[in-house]
Amino acid sequence: MTESAAGRNHRPVIVVGAGPVGLSAALALRALGRPATVLEAGEQDRLRPGSRAIFVHRATLEILDRSHPGLAHDLAAQGLLWHTKRTYYAGDEVFSRSYAPPPPGKLPHFTSLPQVETERLLLQACKAAGVEFAWNQEVTAAATGETGVTLTTGDGTRWQADYVIAADGARSAVRESLGIELRGSRSDGWYIVVDTEEDPGNPLPVERIFHYAHPAVDGRNVLLVPFAGGWRVDLQLHDHDDPERLSRGEGLREWLSAVMPAPYAGRVTWASTYRFLQVIAESFTDPHHRVLLTGEAAHLFAPFGARGMNSGVPDAEAAANAVHLALAAGAPARAAAAVAEFALSRRRSAEHNCDAAGAALAHLRPGPEERAKLEAAAASDDPSMGHWLDTAPYGPREAAPGNTIYKY
Ligand SMILES: Cc1cc2nc3c(=O)[nH]c(=O)nc-3n(C[C@H](O)[C@H](O)[C@H](O)COP(=O)(O)OP(=O)(O)OC[C@H]3O[C@@H](n4cnc5c(N)ncnc54)[C@H](O)[C@@H]3O)c2cc1C
Repeated sequence: MTESAAGRNHRPVIVVGAGPVGLSAALALRALGRPATVLEAGEQDRLRPGSRAIFVHRATLEILDRSHPGLAHDLAAQGLLWHTKRTYYAGDEVFSRSYAPPPPGKLPHFTSLPQVETERLLLQACKAAGVEFAWNQEVTAAATGETGVTLTTGDGTRWQADYVIAADGARSAVRESLGIELRGSRSDGWYIVVDTEEDPGNPLPVERIFHYAHPAVDGRNVLLVPFAGGWRVDLQLHDHDDPERLSRGEGLREWLSAVMPAPYAGRVTWASTYRFLQVIAESFTDPHHRVLLTGEAAHLFAPFGARGMNSGVPDAEAAANAVHLALAAGAPARAAAAVAEFALSRRRSAEHNCDAAGAALAHLRPGPEERAKLEAAAASDDPSMGHWLDTAPYGPREAAPGNTIYKY
C-alpha cells in the first residue's frame, strides 16, 4: 500500500470486481509479491444467485494452484467428478464412455462445483494471502492518463492506481467508462438453464447426459450435468416456445419432470432464460496501457464448452504477470509493451474461444442439411460418428492460443 502525493487511496494495482476472475487476479498478484486491492460493488457476505460456472477445467485448477498452492486440491475435494458421459439421439443411446478416476493425489481433468463454492474458496485464499478488500465500492467512472488511473465509486470516493485490472463482469463500468465497445453477436434461440438440488431419495447415476431431440420434451435438446450438491439442466427451446412460461411454475415443472424423476422439479434452486452473447472487447486495454480488461469485462461466450470462467482465470493470471512486469519495467515504453502484449494475446485467445463456442451454437441449431447429417450420424454404426455427436455440442476442443486443455 502506498502513501503518496496522490493521497491515501493510491494503490499500485487495483482489481475491480470480486467475481472469480477478480479474485484470481488478486491471488496471482500476491503470488508475485505485489500488494492487491479489490474494489467490489457488493457486500462482503452477499450470496450470488445460481451456480453458473460448474465445469472447472484442470488447466484452471493448475493456474489457481500456482497462485495459491493447495487451492486446486481444495476445489477438487469440494467438487464432483462424473466418470461417465452419454449421448442420446431421439431417445436412443448413440455414445457412452467411462473414465478411470485420477490416481490418488493427482488433480482430476475437471471438477464440477457451483461457482459460489469456487468463489468462496477463492475469497478465503485471497484473505489468507493478504489481499485488501473494499466492499460496497461500486466503480462508476474510470479515467486513465500517462501515469495511472483514477476510479470513482458510487459514494464519491476516488481511488488512484498505477494499474487497474478490470474484472467487473459483463456490464463492466470500467470498460464502458473508457469507451471500449464489445463487438459480436447474440444467438437467435432461447435456452433455459436450471439448477436443482440432489434428491437423496431419488439419487441419479452421476453421469453427464446430452439428449438430441429428447422424445419426452417434444424433441428439444437437453443437457444434464451433475455438480456437487445438484444438477444443471439446460433446455434448448423451439423457436415458437415461450421462455417465460417454461422457466417457472407449471411450465417448468412439466418439462423438468419429463427429463428427471418428478421430485427434482420441486427442488429447483435457480432457473434462468438466456439468449447467449458472443462478444469481445475491441481492445483489452486503454490507449495509455493502464487498464487491463479480463473475464466477462472483456468477453462473453455461449456456455457450451465452459469457456467463460475457464478463460477468465488465464486472463487474470496474464494480467497479473503483465502488471508485475510493467511495475518493474522502469522505462515507460517497456511497461506499456508488457500491457500491450497481454491485451493482444488474451484477445487472440478470446477470438478462438468465441469461434469455438459459436461452432457449438451452430451445431445446436442445425439447418436442414446439418440436421440430415446428424440423423445419418445417429443411425451409423461407425463409432467415430457417435464420438462426433458426443463432442460437437461443446465446440472444437483445441486449446486457445496460450491455454492448456485436457480432453475429457
Ligand atoms: C448458465 C451459465 C453457465 C456457465 N457455466 C460455466 C462453466 O461451466 N464454466 C465456465 O468456465 N464458465 C461458465 N459460465 C461463465 C461464468 O459464470 C463467467 O464467465 C464468470 O462468472 C465470469 O467471471 P467474472 O469474474 O469475469 O465476472 P462476474 O462473475 O460477473 O463478477 C464480476 C464482479 O464484479 C462486481 N462488479 C460489477 N460491477 C462492478 C462495479 N462497477 N464496481 C465494482 N464491482 C463491480 C460484481 O458484483 C461481481 O462480483 C457460465 C455462465 C452462465 C450464465
